[in-house]
Amino acid sequence: MTEPGTEPGTEPGTESGVLLIIGSGHSGSTVIDMSLGRRSGMLSLGEFDRIGDYLQHDPTCVCGLRFSACSFWQPLLAEAPDAAARGGDPLVLAGAVARRMPDIRWLVDSSKKTERARALHLRAPDRTRVLHLTRDGRGVMGSHSKQGFRNLADFARAWARDNTAARALVDELGPGRARHLTYEEFCRDPDGVVSGVLEWLSPGMGAAPPRTDRRTHNIAGNRKRFTFHKRVVEDLGWRDRLSSDDLDAFEREAGALNRAFLDAPGAWSLRAAGDP
Ligand SMILES: [Zn+2]
Repeated sequence: MTEPGTEPGTEPGTESGVLLIIGSGHSGSTVIDMSLGRRSGMLSLGEFDRIGDYLQHDPTCVCGLRFSACSFWQPLLAEAPDAAARGGDPLVLAGAVARRMPDIRWLVDSSKKTERARALHLRAPDRTRVLHLTRDGRGVMGSHSKQGFRNLADFARAWARDNTAARALVDELGPGRARHLTYEEFCRDPDGVVSGVLEWLSPGMGAAPPRTDRRTHNIAGNRKRFTFHKRVVEDLGWRDRLSSDDLDAFEREAGALNRAFLDAPGAWSLRAAGDP
C-alpha cells in the first residue's frame, strides 16, 4: 500500500491520480464512472481514449452542448493539447486539471483497455490505480445481442480473453494498485461500493459527499450517460433475451471464468465491512 501522505492529489493543486477502469464493454462502466465522478475530489472523464473522435466529429457532450462549445473540455484541452494529441492521455491532462480544478484528487478514465492501463501505470505507478470491472458475461452477451451481434461463440471467446488479460494485470500489480469489482456488487449497494473505492484510492475519501455541481462531461460510454440518475437497477434483460443455445455457447467458452468472477467475495461496500 502507498504510505500515508503520498497519495496523489492529497494536497490541493498537486497533480491528481488516475483511476483506470478496465474490462469488457457493456459491463456498467459508464454508470460506475459517473457515480464515482459525483463525489467531491473526483472527476469523471469517461472513455478518454476516444477524445480524438470527439475532436473530429463534435458530438453532443453530456452537458448538452456540442463538444466544441463545452465549457469544461475546451479550456482544459487548450491548456493541455498534448493530452488529446497523445490519444487521450489522462496523466498529461492531470496537470491542467490541477491548475484549473485544484480540489480534484482523482480522475476516472473508463477507456477499459488493459494494455493502455498497463502502459499508463508503468509511466506513473504512484499516480495510477486500476479497477477491473466485470459483469456476468451472460448479461454482457445479452447487451451485445440487442445490437444484432450474431456470432456469440466468438463473443464469449473475446469476453474471456479480455477479462483474463485484465485479471492478470490486477494480479501483477497487487491490491494496493489494482482491484476487481463486479457490477452485481455495485448494483446491490451503489453508494457503499463507491465509498469503498474512494477509501481505497485515498484513505479518508470514502466519506466524501456528492459534488455540488452535478454537471458531468463524460466522453462516449453508453446512452445511460444522458439519463443517469441516482437509482441504479441491475439490468437482467438477458435472461429473456438469450436462448439456451446462446447460453450453452457462453458456457463452453467462458462459463468457468464467469463463475470465478461472480463468486469472488464482494469486499467493497463500507457498510458490508461493518460500518453503520
Ligand atoms: Zn460538456
